[in-house]
Amino acid sequence: VVVLGIESSCDETGAGLVRDGRLLGHAVASSMDEHARYGGVVPEIAARAHVHALTPVVRRALDDAGLRMSDIGAVAVTTGPGLSGALQVGLAGAKSLAYALDVPLHGVHHLAGHVAADTLEHGPLPDPCVVLIVSGGHTSLLLVRDLARDPIVHLGDTLDDAAGECFDKVARVFGLPYPGGPAIDRAARDGDPAAVAFPRPLTGPRDAPYDFSFSGLKTAAARWAEGHAGRALPVADGAAALQEAVADVLTRKAVAACRAHGVGTLVVVGGVAANSRVRSLAEERCGAAGIELRVPPLRLCTDNGAMIAAVGDLLVRAGAGAAPLDVSIDPSAPLEFAALAPRAAVG
Ligand code: ATP
Ligand code: MG
Ligand code: FE
Repeated sequence: VVVLGIESSCDETGAGLVRDGRLLGHAVASSMDEHARYGGVVPEIAARAHVHALTPVVRRALDDAGLRMSDIGAVAVTTGPGLSGALQVGLAGAKSLAYALDVPLHGVHHLAGHVAADTLEHGPLPDPCVVLIVSGGHTSLLLVRDLARDPIVHLGDTLDDAAGECFDKVARVFGLPYPGGPAIDRAARDGDPAAVAFPRPLTGPRDAPYDFSFSGLKTAAARWAEGHAGRALPVADGAAALQEAVADVLTRKAVAACRAHGVGTLVVVGGVAANSRVRSLAEERCGAAGIELRVPPLRLCTDNGAMIAAVGDLLVRAGAGAAPLDVSIDPSAPLEFAALAPRAAVG
């Protein structure tokens, strides 16, 4: 069965086609440029951009795969978490297609999509594996078994900001362009990571071993920048030091989680998995610990429809029941199961 996946939880409109774990084609449109002047995603603009982009993006994904609309055998769509107006556009489109084509509809958790993205490049996930999700809105360490069937175990989460949020906010303070994560990554290339001693939050012996905190780091970076008032800010050094601190904490805790649970594979996913230092330090530390490291290619790290199709494909092959056509969005859905089919509120 060819599964169409649709993603519209934030500022990317994505469509992807997957069959039996293989990516057949995909397309992404982004409204990122329209948000740049506001320094962050404006929900109303994002929702309207999805209205414009959804149909052309589905068409482009079909063209990319060399398939026709009638080849689609199931539709999977992100029903949460995310921006409510943005999610509703994707869900409305997915329902229309599922209804018109008379094929099953599957509601998918956005973060399960980020996890499943890796399977499109590296094949089925080993059971169990430890997954580090690092994105714009989330930072979690998970123990994942069968993604289509088993509940996901949260080993730890961020207590405040997500790692991507920390990059995005500090980038603003440093005067770097939006989005901040890639800008910090680029600026850091010319910097010295040892130039500033930023803290490594929650890494003390009494701290929760797998929880994260990035708001203190964000504040430390802002203080450091303020300390240069009237003088030129060595942005490259600040970016390199911040990136080093974030990558250090993320990879240290992820490797410790693998060790503690006797798990041989670490999967790093989400937008921040695109960060060059997160990738290189994860490689270094997993290599030293004898842990297999899996990181999806850059284009599958940030939001896309292929990852949602990948979850849909797993659900279809696991024989999961379809979502009812009155399925609703859940903007703050906790990650427990990959399939997400909240019922519409009645009355
Ligand atoms: P969520 O998935 O939690 O709902 P999201 O969809 O906004 O949030 P993603 O699209 O997965 O998040 O990732 C976007 C985040 O990744 C942004 O915070 C962005 O700054 C960050 N990011 C992207 N590329 C890089 C990079 N090279 N280095 C650091 N951060 C990056
Ligand atoms: Mg995005
Ligand atoms: Fe995302």
